[in-house]
Amino acid sequence: MAGTYTHKFDTPVYKGEITINTGLFINNKWVAPVEGKTVITSVSVGTSKDVDIAVKAAEEAYKNVWGLRCSGRERGKLLYKLATLIERDADEFSALEALDVGKVFAHAKAGDVGGAINTIRYYAGWADKIQGKTIETTDAKFTYTRHEPYGAIVSEDPYPTQQFMASWKLGPALATGNTVVLKPSELTPLTALKLADLIVEAGFPPGVVNIVNGYGHEVGQAITEHPRLRKVAFTGSTVVGRKVMKASADTNLKVVTLELGGKSPTIIFDDADLEKAVRWASFGILQRQACTAGSRIFVQEGIYNNFLPLFQKATEELTEKTGDPFGVGTQHGPQVSQTQFDRVMGFIEHGKSEGAKILIGGERHGTEGYFIKPTIITDVHLGMKLTREEIFGPVCTIIKFKTEEEVIEKGNDTEYGLGSNIFTENLNRAIRVSNAIQSGSSWVNIAQVTDPAVPFGGYKHSGIGRELGEYALDTYTQVKGVHINLGP
Ligand code: NAD
Repeated sequence: MAGTYTHKFDTPVYKGEITINTGLFINNKWVAPVEGKTVITSVSVGTSKDVDIAVKAAEEAYKNVWGLRCSGRERGKLLYKLATLIERDADEFSALEALDVGKVFAHAKAGDVGGAINTIRYYAGWADKIQGKTIETTDAKFTYTRHEPYGAIVSEDPYPTQQFMASWKLGPALATGNTVVLKPSELTPLTALKLADLIVEAGFPPGVVNIVNGYGHEVGQAITEHPRLRKVAFTGSTVVGRKVMKASADTNLKVVTLELGGKSPTIIFDDADLEKAVRWASFGILQRQACTAGSRIFVQEGIYNNFLPLFQKATEELTEKTGDPFGVGTQHGPQVSQTQFDRVMGFIEHGKSEGAKILIGGERHGTEGYFIKPTIITDVHLGMKLTREEIFGPVCTIIKFKTEEEVIEKGNDTEYGLGSNIFTENLNRAIRVSNAIQSGSSWVNIAQVTDPAVPFGGYKHSGIGRELGEYALDTYTQVKGVHINLGP
């Protein structure tokens, strides 16, 4: 049975009772899975049979009420309405995100929920501006292009930024006229379920957005292999990203865009504003779990001995503010699960066995839950697992460097290429290094802050294609060249 789940929050930062529907969301209705399966907490879990039903709903909606049947103006109006409704319920979304992911309530509200509102609103503005070109060829022909949607597509999302990532995909997908089957992470299904009710309230026709919760190896695999879904927009790990691409190659060659993992460098030069560098370097890796985490910190030798104690002090302060995501003043929460906790601790132990030194942290915080102390590790080199693989936890390594050339080479010595953070007061150097580092995003004197108008994506193993900005519109549309004969 499609049921409901109620959670009562009585916390210092949020009080209230939230009830969400826990079924599968298909054709604007809450339905039970075909095989009647539950549960993640008390959320229904679908199978490939439910995926088939959701795809059919998305196809019918595309054909009959969305896609070319619905004007861009109307699609934009609905997206604006959705953004306003998310804004109205921002506290509820933030509470669910904090409950689900362990993200600090205030961070969820400012970053994830605020970011989702801005993103949906940004793409609402694009919905009536999707246009092709007329192309002059010869007098005998009238030639032009059309930017057409794919039809029914997939949006597949990871646990750390479930709602934010869903908005990055729903915004451009719906603005350009696609219909969507959304698969949230099995670890964090709640915000998507809440969003479903607002999709109905905003007035989207049935079938435009469908949500099938379930496990990656089952629902995830079924949608990425589905023969009638035409595009998959995937965010998650590089390991699963490869499977998504392979599934597409083995089935219907659906267009694949991938937003994957990272191992981003944070580069701090001698002439950096030290206070700023410490603050952003900490934000960039220790406070939040993010794909763009600046987990490899390179510090130039002239300020190394000044930077280290300041960074350590900031980390001690952050450790004191590690705890309940709903606590007043909390700045750092837990890992999402025992599995992730064990994984992160495994990296730390492996680093120690290879001779790395724990400057601070490196252990469980408190006695309950999946809290890990913010951890700084020194005495590492770029051949170690710690510095090569994505850890996805509050753990950074620090490496000293001498010259700009050296740090560019070391910064690029990774299979990943998602982000880079550069701290210097020298504008020429900032631009030189930003140009030289192979990453889809580059931040100077700041870290990790995205904007709906600015493209985001990965170089190398960090992904394919771009999300956000005008650039993302290209990945949600296919271009048709039309030739009309004006002559004989
Ligand atoms: P994950 O790859 O384990 O899971 C992502 C999604 O894939 C989930 O919905 C999961 O159910 C699904 N999945 C799992 N196996 C599948 C399969 N065989 N076929 C199809 N789908 C399958 O990632 P995660 O652990 O949820 O999230 C952490 C990862 O996400 C990190 O690597 C992080 O860097 C990355 N991430 C990237 C971005 C970005 O924008 N580049 C943003 C946030 C997170």
